[in-house]
Amino acid sequence: RGDSADPVIPFAQPGSLTRVYAVASGKGGVGKSSVTVNLAAAMAARGLSVGVLDADIYGHSVPRMLGTDARPTQVERMIMPPVAHDVKVISIAMFTQGNTPVVWRGPMLHRALQQFLADVFWGDLDILLLDLPPGTGDVAISIAQLIPNAEILVVTTPQLAAAEVAERAGSIALQTRQRIAGVVENMSWLDLPDGSRMELYGSGGGQTVADSLTRAVGATVPLLGQIPIEQGLREASDEGTPIVLRDPDSASAKALIEVADKL
Ligand code: ADP
Repeated sequence: RGDSADPVIPFAQPGSLTRVYAVASGKGGVGKSSVTVNLAAAMAARGLSVGVLDADIYGHSVPRMLGTDARPTQVERMIMPPVAHDVKVISIAMFTQGNTPVVWRGPMLHRALQQFLADVFWGDLDILLLDLPPGTGDVAISIAQLIPNAEILVVTTPQLAAAEVAERAGSIALQTRQRIAGVVENMSWLDLPDGSRMELYGSGGGQTVADSLTRAVGATVPLLGQIPIEQGLREASDEGTPIVLRDPDSASAKALIEVADKL
């Protein structure tokens, strides 16, 4: 690692104008991929040039959520990423056969990520979002080494048990000296027809993570938004059109667009 034969990663070069966000969570199923694709689609709709690298090697779901099953094409030595909803997207899912599980060890993962970052023709991106696997594993460390300027965006649910593990994922940034862009709380509540809110997963998780990361890094880590639970969000993902595009006036889309505007 770090030898002179390493391919050049444009996003890691001094003067790169691309903002890179690594989207992290403590555990799976909190909506990390949903948040990633919706932020990407919202930013692209705003006219930014956006790429998503699905680095959730074992749980890749980004292509489906963006409604693409296209494969990358090869032009000379570069890999051309498929484009879905104006977002350039690369996923390990695009390089596997059917639903075969990927079993890779750290060094192979590192090489694959390096290739996705260096050999994919991303063009001049304003924003690159990386959908990390849940937890604090090899991928997060590799990304920190390959793109030290990548900022971390932590996704959690309001549940305090979930918040504790999310905090751990965020505090990796202490060791890697990466900036933490903020926290997004997902599945914050369910709006009921009578106008009340049902807090299915309790409350306070997002703020708790933001506060404790603020204390840990000694700089303000903001809670960027709270995304309610909505059937439409899940349906939109399943159908391959992010809710921010399919139903931008829904409560969850509005909250997601607000987060995108803060980044
Ligand atoms: P992760 O990437 O953290 O594993 P996903 O983004 O895959 O989580 O979300 C897990 C499931 O929960 C998906 O089926 C997704 O559509 C659904 N989901 C995520 N966020 C919400 C939400 N705010 N409202 C309703 N369903 C959601």
